[in-house]
Amino acid sequence: MELDELLKKFREYSSQDTTVLEYAWNYSNEAHQEQKRASGEKYFVHCAAVAEILVDFKMDLETVAAGLMHDVLEDTKIPHETFQKEFGDEIYALVAGVTKIETLKFSSRDEAQAENWRKMILATAKDIRVIVIKLADRLHNMRTLNFLTREKQLEISHETISLYAPLAQRLGIFHLKSELEDLSFKYLHPDEFQSLLAKVQLRYAMREKLLEDFRTELETHLAGAQVPHRVLARVKNLYSIYRKMLRQDKPFEEIQDALAVRVITDTVINCYALLGTVHSVFKPVAGSFTDYIAVPKMNLYQSLHTSVMAGTGEVIEIQIRTEEMHRTSEYGIAAHWRYKLGEKGADKHLDEKLNWLRQWMEWLQDLSSPREFIESFKTDLELDQIFIFTPKGEVKPLPVDATPIDFAYTIHTDIGNTCIGAKVNNKMVRLDQPLKSGDICEIVTRRNSAPKKDWLGTVKTAGARSHIRKYLREHGQPEE
Ligand code: MN
Repeated sequence: MELDELLKKFREYSSQDTTVLEYAWNYSNEAHQEQKRASGEKYFVHCAAVAEILVDFKMDLETVAAGLMHDVLEDTKIPHETFQKEFGDEIYALVAGVTKIETLKFSSRDEAQAENWRKMILATAKDIRVIVIKLADRLHNMRTLNFLTREKQLEISHETISLYAPLAQRLGIFHLKSELEDLSFKYLHPDEFQSLLAKVQLRYAMREKLLEDFRTELETHLAGAQVPHRVLARVKNLYSIYRKMLRQDKPFEEIQDALAVRVITDTVINCYALLGTVHSVFKPVAGSFTDYIAVPKMNLYQSLHTSVMAGTGEVIEIQIRTEEMHRTSEYGIAAHWRYKLGEKGADKHLDEKLNWLRQWMEWLQDLSSPREFIESFKTDLELDQIFIFTPKGEVKPLPVDATPIDFAYTIHTDIGNTCIGAKVNNKMVRLDQPLKSGDICEIVTRRNSAPKKDWLGTVKTAGARSHIRKYLREHGQPEE
């Protein structure tokens, strides 16, 4: 990728002035001058590739510039203040955000821990664009993983499949999620991957004819009508098929997997026009029609879904949508980012919108019903969380202003009951000192020590409070 190409692609969707991009390109190229990638290429090739992915997502100028420079603070000696002066607060905050996530080293194989990590990454990022840059970074690293040692490949693939693919899914960036999953799958289970790939390719090749027939039929019946459309075959990602095989404990041959096509058109009216045509040509499968245009899914997904019988008796799953709906379904929150901020990127209510986006992420993450959705706008519990590490690197979510005592009780009741002090980031602190996200906390205990009544005034978690009360009650010193 050359600078000219990047600028050209960027200008296709944005009218923002590109001077900063040119400057960022040269700045990063210069800063990484001495570094090489494992492939032997110049390090900057990676930075340019990340920027290209972000331009493909149609991200704003600041995000693309930060993408070009995402490793500058991490890998070079440039001081933070210098960089901030050079590029301003917004770009600096994005790069610093990516750098911060970079320092979190995930190693656990435990799914509950992975979930805490994902929450922590979301909370740490503060700005959704930081996550999008991080995901683009990870995607390029996964695409070039073949240059690393087997051990590194396994480590990074595991991290990708347990942390980053679910994050991409949570943000609704489905095609990124699929690619991250399939690349991880390829390294984690190379034999299964290759054999499944061969089988899936064979199955899709056999379906080419069916797909062609579908296209032709549709063309014939639309002839003359002004309904622009394109038909795409939907290839399901290998990892999701693999998961289905494991879940159902069946070989690929027994996995039901209908031919899936997407028909994309210009307007909502034409979506319904196409639906009418499809149903008049092919026999619909009873009960298969769902109108996600009139009633969008919680993650804003819109499409008409139906299944029909082909002449050969095979079932074809069809999704009909506009280009805009297609974009939302492919790019998720990244697509929304641009709608919300507008082309110029000049936004006076950035915080408000970031907050909205954060709410949106939380909602995607946890909610399944409209009632919960509405509730989620009333309480922002999740947003008030901090994340504290044990010395072994486990992460515990706690409410804001939680103290070492709260932390001690999340580890074990006995640890809480017998704690006499705490080391935070290797320094002794008072037991009532509020913790900060990212702190590493080690609890000091003494046998026969007991909870104090005044702890009740400082703890923030219901768990700690009830353990302390219980102990006091059982030892004859209930609260007045
Ligand atoms: Mn990088």
